[in-house]
Amino acid sequence: MSVRTRFAPSPTGYLHVGGARTALYNYLYAKKMGGTFVLRVEDTDQERSTEESMRSQLSDLSWLGLDWQEGIQAETLEEKGKYGPYRQSQRLEIYKKHADKLIEKGLAYYCFYSSEELEQKKAEAQEKGWPQIRNDYRDRSLEEAKKRIAEGDKPVVRFKVPLERREYLHKDIVRGDVTFNSEMVGDFVILRSDGMPVYNFCCAIDDALMKITHVLRAEEHLSNTLRQMMIYEAFGWELPEFGHLSIMLGPDKQKLSKRHGATSCNEYREGGYLAEALNNFIALCGWSHPEGKEVFDMADLLENFSLERFNAASAVFDETKLKWVNASHLRSLPHQELWQAIQPFVSELSLPTNSGWQNKALEILKPKMETLADAKDLFAPFSGYELSEAASDVLSWESSRAVITAWIDEIKGVSGEISEEQFSEIQNAVKAAAGVKGKFLFMPLRVCVTGAPQGADLAKTVPLLSVEELVGRAEKALAAVQ
Ligand code: GLU
Repeated sequence: MSVRTRFAPSPTGYLHVGGARTALYNYLYAKKMGGTFVLRVEDTDQERSTEESMRSQLSDLSWLGLDWQEGIQAETLEEKGKYGPYRQSQRLEIYKKHADKLIEKGLAYYCFYSSEELEQKKAEAQEKGWPQIRNDYRDRSLEEAKKRIAEGDKPVVRFKVPLERREYLHKDIVRGDVTFNSEMVGDFVILRSDGMPVYNFCCAIDDALMKITHVLRAEEHLSNTLRQMMIYEAFGWELPEFGHLSIMLGPDKQKLSKRHGATSCNEYREGGYLAEALNNFIALCGWSHPEGKEVFDMADLLENFSLERFNAASAVFDETKLKWVNASHLRSLPHQELWQAIQPFVSELSLPTNSGWQNKALEILKPKMETLADAKDLFAPFSGYELSEAASDVLSWESSRAVITAWIDEIKGVSGEISEEQFSEIQNAVKAAAGVKGKFLFMPLRVCVTGAPQGADLAKTVPLLSVEELVGRAEKALAAVQ
């Protein structure tokens, strides 16, 4: 049987990095096995689901390159695949039909308890020491229920959990054997009184009808698996294999949340992270590379991915490490690609268009880049020259005139560009000529080159500006000296 995996986001917010990890593993496994990766949208929570959230999650998934063969298309939101619709809100008839089947088979029933009655039943069970409540509607006749419905009553539909205590075992891909005892759950609701199905019911029906063979999902869903197994059993369907992924924690070992910083894929995308670096990093939150590698590309990940290397212990989402992984990926990109990738971050700058300069600039500046967003400050000095407010203080120092004059004298005679080594020599010469050191030397020099006394690493910046440009800038700085 061919492998079919799925990612089933609820469109109630942004795509969390934990969700992206779930999607990544499902994508990898399907791709590795020559199977199919399905994208299903779980939007039955009509109050919280929005189309905007669905669009943004699908767009983040396709930015990550986790292409799916069936489901809702990211751009057009069109359906593709033969087991659709892939939006749960459009499958309500299917759930209703399946609930009816269970009712007819005596495996589910209408329950008319009001919330007060239910509270009484719970109190009774607690008093008597029963694991679950005893529901009087469980064995009432269907005719009686239908009559009440015809009269306008609105019951919920409950699943009949087997009365005798039983063990349900599943061999979890991540955790090994997991046994549930049937008494852990009572007759659970599958359709609410307004006819809307609940998550566990939809999920089991969809996974079965969409022929999903492997379900890799977050650990928090482990508690749902028993109910879903019962639903599979009631229909006589074969279970998929389940794998419940380790929980993702922040560096303080608390559940990863906004408190820890960015948790949405989009924030990383906009913050200048590469999709490949994010995939690389999240792959390692709960899985390890067989050769112990920390940095790898998608082809390597795909080649080495297997279900055997999951780690059930919680994974720590360490942003410092993510930054390091990102920097490694970014620095190994071909320059043309890197230049393209930084464009959204330098769009307000007007930079030289010749590719010789661009290559040289990237060569010199990329070791200073951890994210694409860093390009903005690194490239700013090449966009133009303007004296910053902070420069006027530096220009008012007594020794600054001497520094700037010495700088102009030293560079004027250089033909071509100033290399990093030459810059270091020139700097020493200026130091000797002006008789200053430390900030009295470096700050006026920075003002000459970039217009601001802080920030740029001059040894990296100077070689990327022509001597003519440098002289012009220094003369402007000199003119501003009082
Ligand atoms: N819609 C569920 C969620 O977003 C997915 C549940 C599942 O994977 O079974 O958490």
